[in-house]
Amino acid sequence: MRYAEQLRYGELHVCHDEKTGLRAIVAIHNLKLGPAIGGTRCIHYAASDDALRDVLRLARGMTYKAAITGLPHGGGKSVIMRPPGLPDRGPERVALFERFGDFIESLGGRYLCAEDSGTTPDDMDVIATRTQYVLGTQDAAGSGDPSPFTSFGVRRGIEACVKERYNRDDMKGLHVAIQGVGKVGYYLARELHQLGVELTVTDVIDANVRRCVDEFGATAVAPDEIYDVEAAVFAPCALGAILDDRSVARLRVDIVAGGANNQLAEDRHGQALLDRGILYAPDYAINAAGLVNVAMELEGYDADKSHQLASGIYDNLLRIFAAARENGLPTNLVADRMVEAIIFD
Ligand code: NAD
Repeated sequence: MRYAEQLRYGELHVCHDEKTGLRAIVAIHNLKLGPAIGGTRCIHYAASDDALRDVLRLARGMTYKAAITGLPHGGGKSVIMRPPGLPDRGPERVALFERFGDFIESLGGRYLCAEDSGTTPDDMDVIATRTQYVLGTQDAAGSGDPSPFTSFGVRRGIEACVKERYNRDDMKGLHVAIQGVGKVGYYLARELHQLGVELTVTDVIDANVRRCVDEFGATAVAPDEIYDVEAAVFAPCALGAILDDRSVARLRVDIVAGGANNQLAEDRHGQALLDRGILYAPDYAINAAGLVNVAMELEGYDADKSHQLASGIYDNLLRIFAAARENGLPTNLVADRMVEAIIFD
């Protein structure tokens, strides 16, 4: 509970249903700007405390992402402790997600769920049989896979970094090193390739690397070598907490800007990047386009409008960089302060 207080929590809701085996938590961090939006994870947790910590950390992140992007939404998240042996489809899974849908409905629209790790568009369709407060369903109103939008936003964010760092409006001939070429990393590589960017990529899945080598002429390196690549930009698009004492000391880039969530191992690594003269695009500001896209469902989905809004990530980052420059502060701290001035005033 102390952790929840530290994070300045709004609401926590727990559901335990013996019949279906559902054990779920919804964390609603902040509702000042509007109803909370955030994905539903359904993964194995060794203990309920682990699930609680995860959902608290993630929901807070959604508040910051929505607020810095100017969306009329708060931050929330839900986790389902995946029952051992839960099948990927079939009646047992349907019953679990129906019950989860009832749980979401009982919150009266203060929180809207969506797909996340361990859940699928099919699960969202099941939830939608019990509540209207679900996004990312497969009917006509759904916005589909958010990853290409996230990557588009990350590309606009990298362009803002290039403007700030080099005062350049084009990307031609720049070199970007991408860590993780799954969904977001792959679509980012495609966007950058189209702009004439030279790419180095890595992934723990060989086929993902090969796809980028074949399609975009990317250079491949081993996963641990990505931190030593001399390039303009390092784009983390895989795991969280990869910017730590060791990796920050190794980087040979001018800019860190990528799609992964929670890139800094600790907040102080934002200062460590600044000390090394590396411009850091705060993760929740640069990777918000997927959220923009799914939130658009609430006002009638329109892909063009979604792109237009996501493009705002460019100006948003320039605003953060200007404030950081003027005050000699790390960009992550400046972004946090901007959000906190809005949501906790
Ligand atoms: P993904 O699973 O499709 O891709 C991640 C890739 O990283 C995989 O190909 C995986 O093999 C690779 N990887 C894992 N460990 C690695 C390592 N040590 N070194 C190199 N590669 C490694 O996931 P995704 O949807 O592309 O998401 C990537 C990141 O972006 C995550 O942090 C996610 O939270 C964040 N994110 C995604 C979205 C979205 O729209 N998908 C939106 C916002 C943030």
